Amino acid sequence: MKIKLLITIFFFSLLIAEKASAQGYKIKTIVIDPGHGGRKPGASGSFSKEKDVSLKIALKLGALLKGQMPDIKIIFTRKTDIDVDLYRRAEIANEANADLFISVHCNSMPPGNKHIKGTETLVAGSHRLKEQDAAIRENADIKLEKNYKSKYEGYDPSNPSSFILLSLLKNAFRDKSIKFAKLIQNSYIKRDERLSRGVKEQGVLVLQRCGMPAVLTEVGFISNKEEEKYINSQNGQNEIANSILEAIKTYKKNIEVK
Ligand SMILES: [Zn+2]
Repeated sequence: MKIKLLITIFFFSLLIAEKASAQGYKIKTIVIDPGHGGRKPGASGSFSKEKDVSLKIALKLGALLKGQMPDIKIIFTRKTDIDVDLYRRAEIANEANADLFISVHCNSMPPGNKHIKGTETLVAGSHRLKEQDAAIRENADIKLEKNYKSKYEGYDPSNPSSFILLSLLKNAFRDKSIKFAKLIQNSYIKRDERLSRGVKEQGVLVLQRCGMPAVLTEVGFISNKEEEKYINSQNGQNEIANSILEAIKTYKKNIEVK
């Protein structure tokens, strides 16, 4: 029995390794998620709302991707000023079997802290990873289906090896999310000379439900006068969108091992 289990784990490990660094693995689909929308404006600055800033930057990023990386399918969780539930945003990405999920937001501080500024990018916190299990499991099923039917007969979700598979996938997604988040922050610092508050692991619901590498990037503080101006300006929005694009290009290059 034990040997059978070890063999199963071995094959799944191979499968994970293949998926992770993967000859022929290509990033095919990216989901762009403009934060908030409709009845949920998010944070407010002195003259602008987070939902509008995040949408404008997200649309610019989508246009850049379409022009410069035309092979990648881009899906938006919203393209207009509408309210989309958080679970639905993750569901859109899971249903599309997306390779990457990017949520665009602005940060805010309460009065008295209006001097605080800078960018930060969040990934799902490790202490809350359990919530991700279902999403990953469902996604893993779709992704593995072709292989396990022909090659790995007897795949059983209640089998202990399946849990090992799940945690392997989970760690792989977490590692990739952190790598991608770091690339975004580096891009903000190097290209746009922005202040970086770093990469943070937090319990972000929309990220926890995504069964793929997923980040939430805070493009600046809407509560800071200077940054509110910047994230609302054409120049600022173009810089931010281009910085995220550069991070995607580098991430893609690193991950698509030939
Ligand atoms: Zn937000």
